[in-house]
Amino acid sequence: MSESKIDTRLWSSKARNLSPYVPGEQPQHNNLCKLNTNENPFPPSPKVAEAIAKVLEQQADDLRLYPAPESDDLRQALAQLYDIDVNQVFVGNGSDEVLALVFASFFLKERPVLAPDISYSFYPVYAQTFGIDLIQIPLEEDFSVDPDAYRQPCSGIIIANPNAPTGLLLSLADIRKLASEHSNAVVVIDEAYIDFAQTEEEVDDEVSAVSLINDYDNILVTQTFSKSRSLAGLRVGMAFGNASLIEALTRMKNSFNSFPLDKLAQAGATASVLDVEYFEQTRQQVIDLRQSLTAELMALDYDVLPSHANFVFARPKDGNATAVTSALREQGIIVRHFEKPRINEYLRITVGTAEQNQRLIDALTALQAEPDVG
Ligand SMILES: *Cc1c(COP(=O)(O)O)cnc(C)c1O
Repeated sequence: MSESKIDTRLWSSKARNLSPYVPGEQPQHNNLCKLNTNENPFPPSPKVAEAIAKVLEQQADDLRLYPAPESDDLRQALAQLYDIDVNQVFVGNGSDEVLALVFASFFLKERPVLAPDISYSFYPVYAQTFGIDLIQIPLEEDFSVDPDAYRQPCSGIIIANPNAPTGLLLSLADIRKLASEHSNAVVVIDEAYIDFAQTEEEVDDEVSAVSLINDYDNILVTQTFSKSRSLAGLRVGMAFGNASLIEALTRMKNSFNSFPLDKLAQAGATASVLDVEYFEQTRQQVIDLRQSLTAELMALDYDVLPSHANFVFARPKDGNATAVTSALREQGIIVRHFEKPRINEYLRITVGTAEQNQRLIDALTALQAEPDVG
């Protein structure tokens, strides 16, 4: 239906006033080099498909029954993975759903919620959906987060770490500082990319704020199976925090949808968590590919921010990211470009397979031979 035929007379004013999130496109045709939505270039663990097939073969009759409402097996597997209690774990239908429940559970208060001005663009959408005032705190000139800039009354703070689309990492010391200075607010750390965060110099350093949840009752960490576990299509996300925070999320979930994860998703996600070896192997491969992609882009005179994620944020030397994006598209290579102040000269490029990255680098090299691009 074309936009002009939509009749909004019967809509609530709420529905009329929404401005929904627009995800990166999911084009259907095949030969595209899709580097625009930070999906993992590797397939999920083979154990995932085995676990799902087993449900379909051996328990297909059980699909007439509702799934486990609190996804107990999956939460237990995640609790074991992080050595925490099962009542410190919440799961939902993708971390996007978990984040919606977070906004409703903790930020729907008198005071505003604070988030970086350049961050995951779903946060302002949730704020609007729930009628929450969101104050955007400017990142520093180098795109880093300054915890001191958050010193103001708020219901909560939400920061993606590593941040998107910059890929920069905030230290656990800074997160501790935010949590101590805002003991009456929930500090939400969106760790969609945390599994890619370690660099060679930092292998032994703890980077995930899950390690802080026993020390701070106001830190809530969200993560997802979509990026590091190659399961964006299965829709599974989670949150970790003090049992009281998890209880609030559970109440909110059960006031909206008691069964957000179906049986297949629960079985597949649990199998993914248990296959530690496959997970370690593919995440290391992505980190290695990110390092080589960064080096190759720098060799082409791109400014590349030091990424701790499965994408890089890079600026061609003439800053004409719009031209590069459309030239790449003509060659079937799709990257993400944000028409936003401060970042419109950058491209966000998902780390692909070695072949995909090479195809990108070859295309960019050819572009530089042309007079006006890159
Ligand atoms: C991808 C992403 C999400 C959403 O993850 P899903 O589990 O697929 O809903 C949340 N936050 C950030 C910062 C992301 O990049």
